[in-house]
Amino acid sequence: MKIAILSRNRQLYSTRRLVEAGQERGHEMVVLDPLRCQVDVASQRPGVHYRGEQLEGFDAVIPRIGASITFYGLAVLRQFEVMGVYPLNESVAIGRSRDKLRSLQLLARKGVGLPVTGFAHSVDDTQALIDLVGGAPLVVKLLEGTQGKGVVLAETDKAAESLIDAFRELDANFLVQEFIKEAGGADIRCFVIGDRVVAAMKRQAKEGEFRSNLHRGGSAALVRLTPAERATAARAAKIVGLNVAGVDILRSNHGPLVMEVNSSPGLEGIETATGKDVADQIILFIEKNAKPNRTRTKGK
Ligand code: ADP
Ligand code: GLU
Repeated sequence: MKIAILSRNRQLYSTRRLVEAGQERGHEMVVLDPLRCQVDVASQRPGVHYRGEQLEGFDAVIPRIGASITFYGLAVLRQFEVMGVYPLNESVAIGRSRDKLRSLQLLARKGVGLPVTGFAHSVDDTQALIDLVGGAPLVVKLLEGTQGKGVVLAETDKAAESLIDAFRELDANFLVQEFIKEAGGADIRCFVIGDRVVAAMKRQAKEGEFRSNLHRGGSAALVRLTPAERATAARAAKIVGLNVAGVDILRSNHGPLVMEVNSSPGLEGIETATGKDVADQIILFIEKNAKPNRTRTKGK
């Protein structure tokens, strides 16, 4: 097969591993920078141009679209879909996952366990918002944040109030969430391919920190999932409509709670922590599922 990887940087671990895994299985792997793809929507024959050439003959496309280029990256991916190229993850599903609130709403509607989460805009509702999640300690998250940036723990109602007022003053979109203390500064990253979890790791925040992001100095280790955790992660990916997803779960004293569903989960942390060849499994999934014009919007 001829497989495109939409990625800004071919040196990234995840991109390199996918190229390697695809080549090992005899596929032609082509890395394309989505920002250099030119979309031709107006002609009879929808196309994508790359460095002056019309792209042709692709069987599948692997989107690795960073949060900062979501808008244009998804437009390019959508164009591949229009051309009938099989997308590993569909543009609609990636779009949902990029909006934390939207994906939480979808998950809530299907009864998936979530931390109690509130969202409001108007300035006079601060106390009501705090009460909604059961008071401090609580977590405030900027909707556009990644890698734990813009995720703040407010230990008292007073601190929560100042924080929320400050975010409002900046006109930022944020959500307020109950703090899952018993998670102990750890979360579980479940790597889902198709309808199962193929690898999982526990990320533990460094001393004095509640955010377990590896970018924030957290450390990763192999973890054994409970059946409920496996089922929850697979279901969350399915609801958002992603074939490949990194589902982040908090272990609460009332079961697994989904915090986030990522559509471009990194491979380095998970392959290193688990020793599993996740890239190879992604390629196998594509081999099994890529058919021309297989694009359709999954999830409801
Ligand atoms: P980002 O998408 O920026 O990584 P997250 O929402 O995943 O932001 O939060 C970053 C980290 O903060 C999580 O990995 C987790 O360790 C911790 N965290 C986030 N929300 C909560 C919460 N409600 N209760 C306890 N810990 C949390
Ligand atoms: N399932 C609907 C859709 O295909 C709505 C869910 C959503 O993405 O917000 O877009």
